[in-house]
Amino acid sequence: MFQKILIANRGEIALRVLRACKELGIQTVVVHSTADADAMHVRLADESVCIGPPPSRDSYLNIHQIVAACEITGADAVHPGYGFLSENAKFADILAAHNITFIGPSGDHIRIMGDKIEAKRTAKRLGIPVVPGSDGAVTDQKEARRIAAEIGYPVIIKASAGGGGRGMKVALTEADLEVALQTASTEAGAAFGDDAVYIEKYLEKPRHIEVQVFGDGFGRGVHFGERDCSLQRRHQKVWEEAPSPALNAEERARIGGICAKAIADLGYSGAGTIEFLYENGEFYFIEMNTRLQVEHPVTEAITGIDLVHEQIRVASGGGLSVKQEDIKFNGHAIECRINAEDPRTFTPSPGTITHFHTPGGLGIRVDSGVYSGYKIPPYYDSLIGKLIVHGRNRVECMMRLRRALDEFVVDGIKTTLPLFRDLVGNADIANGDYDIHWLEKYVAKEE
Ligand code: ADP
Repeated sequence: MFQKILIANRGEIALRVLRACKELGIQTVVVHSTADADAMHVRLADESVCIGPPPSRDSYLNIHQIVAACEITGADAVHPGYGFLSENAKFADILAAHNITFIGPSGDHIRIMGDKIEAKRTAKRLGIPVVPGSDGAVTDQKEARRIAAEIGYPVIIKASAGGGGRGMKVALTEADLEVALQTASTEAGAAFGDDAVYIEKYLEKPRHIEVQVFGDGFGRGVHFGERDCSLQRRHQKVWEEAPSPALNAEERARIGGICAKAIADLGYSGAGTIEFLYENGEFYFIEMNTRLQVEHPVTEAITGIDLVHEQIRVASGGGLSVKQEDIKFNGHAIECRINAEDPRTFTPSPGTITHFHTPGGLGIRVDSGVYSGYKIPPYYDSLIGKLIVHGRNRVECMMRLRRALDEFVVDGIKTTLPLFRDLVGNADIANGDYDIHWLEKYVAKEE
């Protein structure tokens, strides 16, 4: 087991990882920018190292500084959290070259999944159902027209190097195709330095359902069930739940089994998420994230298993603490992402939190790094906390969520709490009846 883990992240996820390390009796080092000197993870860590000025590229993305911090403090492993360097294959390789364990998969696995065309090809080879579309990159208009006609309109053009919902263009008919292909490719080149794009069928009313998987480091794979993250705005998840209100036990076991086998065949090690669109009873792979997800706590709530503990165990060579048959699903969990944003326009609202009071009671978990008097720096993403609620079934979970949202107080800044208070009272949400476009339509109607 590791003696000392360096946490290369900030905010709620840095605190989340720190808690797991403390429970396992592992020393913690955190790195931080000058803007985060007062952050909670810095206060609670055993050691902290300031690695640079506020902009991420000079601090949380600065590989040299982070490796230096490991060497200075004698950390033997790094947990990257999510975002920042968590899916950076070069970072994983550099750490390995310094004999520091990257708590995550190998650089090669990150590389395969970071290239969407390669990822889709690999998924297909492993027997995972994919969205019908081009086999690889498409550059030529004539070829694009042929493929689009074959799969049928509407189609979506996606950047191979895309991420964060960027670099996607929909073509409703052949008339839109030329412009869509050109703009997607130009945008991808500008945003990601790689203009490769591919075509797939645009699914009109899908749900976003993702499967939590783990490779144990010994060639075995397991799944921890699914999460439904269909409530999104601008392709950003807002509300996540487990299990999905749309799946039954057979569908869960079938897709989970396919994913666990794929992970084993790939020889993958650590936590991963295989993301699908789901429509008319069919799953369509869109991408795999090779890291811990923001929404992992809903899976922890229904399985009772600490996924960060498992990540650390696997990375240290100790395997998983559970086998597939030990993973049982109990009740229902919902996570609301509390962002420092205007609840209608979603524009960021940094500033000082004058008063912060979190709900409590049975089935309530709040993961947050903020506190009363905390000044939110304007440099990073707007997530200030996550409210995770668990109940024996979805109805109980929703009742408890409504009560918890009423208790939650964040003064001094705008947050997305009012949006969630509206959503818990909505009939479609109560019925679990929503797709990936539902929230956009709802917000547009309310404006
Ligand atoms: P990113 O890596 O940028 O998040 P994804 O491939 O995961 O990109 O897609 C993000 C979101 O875009 C999906 O959750 C879905 O809302 C939408 N999307 C992607 N592919 C399709 C598709 N073929 N049809 C319809 N919507 C899609």
